[in-house]
Amino acid sequence: MTGNIVTGSKKEDPAAAPAAGKKNLFDMDRASLERFFEETLGEKKFRAHQVMKWIHHRYVTDFADMTDLGKALRAKLEAHAEVRVPQVIFDKASTDGTHKWLLGMDPKNAIETVYIPDKGRGTLCVSSQVGCALNCQFCSTATQGFNRNLTTAEIIGQVWVAARHLGNVPHQQRRLTNVVMMGMGEPLANFDNVVRAMSIMRDDLGYGLANKRVTLSTAGMVPMIDRLAAESDVSLAVSLHAPFDELRTELVPLNKKYPLDQLMDACVRYARGKKSSVTFEYTLMKGVNDQPQHARALARMMRQFDNAVQMKDAAKVNLIPFNPFPGTRFERPDETAIRSFQKLLNEAGLIAPVRRTRGDDIDAACGQLKGQVMDRTRRQAEFRKQLQAQGVDDAA
Ligand code: SAH
Repeated sequence: MTGNIVTGSKKEDPAAAPAAGKKNLFDMDRASLERFFEETLGEKKFRAHQVMKWIHHRYVTDFADMTDLGKALRAKLEAHAEVRVPQVIFDKASTDGTHKWLLGMDPKNAIETVYIPDKGRGTLCVSSQVGCALNCQFCSTATQGFNRNLTTAEIIGQVWVAARHLGNVPHQQRRLTNVVMMGMGEPLANFDNVVRAMSIMRDDLGYGLANKRVTLSTAGMVPMIDRLAAESDVSLAVSLHAPFDELRTELVPLNKKYPLDQLMDACVRYARGKKSSVTFEYTLMKGVNDQPQHARALARMMRQFDNAVQMKDAAKVNLIPFNPFPGTRFERPDETAIRSFQKLLNEAGLIAPVRRTRGDDIDAACGQLKGQVMDRTRRQAEFRKQLQAQGVDDAA
């Protein structure tokens, strides 16, 4: 594990205290930026639109370079606002084209963002928190403990860094076609900041992504699923991992608070309200949740879901073979076991693709993101102790 993060140049240094009273424009979606222009700067709304294009389409963050704004406005912006981009601590490319960034959020914390190119699309996996408080047993992020929520600026900053690196131009040169909130953290535990960031992702003046191409993945925070339905319009993915409450509670402790029947009801309301499918993620772990009895119960649950929503294929299952990390007690099932699990689902009429492992040579696969978390829980220290006792080297 590396020590404290070395801070970069002054302009890109997130550790530098925000200049007194200056607003970071990365924190604002279209509505809040318009308000800022009208109320604080005394300017017309369309000026806010020009600035959004400079920032999110052309990656210009210096007001002096925003040449279609008058001198007086540029000076006002300089006095009241800034665009503070995240600090890239390092980035790594995988042999399969996957790209991972470690981004400094403050002097003690860093998060990871992953870009996954595929035929005809480019997906960015974005983090919502520094670490995660949920403690799902099979997830590497959980072993890092939790520090804090990310701000809207820190969430959209991840998209900005990747989009700039890729030379993405919304609607023209699309390198970034999808965003999944599947990085570090539980996005629904950071509701307002995540929803605002997702609105910038979907805005034509932002990254111009279609609603259904922005996906929020949750471990199952039931009341927040309903709030999401009311306040946003994105695709929903739910980390299911088990068709039985007892097993799910063991794997995803949040299940104790919001058991399967409540979770599935919330998903039905979401799918009905949005008239869209819900993706159920199922991480396959050898001998834990990969047996025929699990496949059959899962298929039953998914069929019940389709019936309740009254839509064919309302439930989409996404099978994720477990990705190992140092010290974990779980294993990935072998290929035959994965295929027979999938076959049982297919025979029950379900769409259930297996998510191919991408970027595992750079520890960028699902469940492998760690970042650098100044843990506020005791979890990281406990996990390290456990690793030492096992003689496992976790120097990565
Ligand atoms: N907290 C949210 C967002 C994280 S998404 C959620 O739980 O949905 C990350 C996805 O990868 C989730 O479906 C998670 O269950 C899955 N995952 C976590 N650890 C994994 C691992 N070691 N191998 C494969 N998938 C994993």
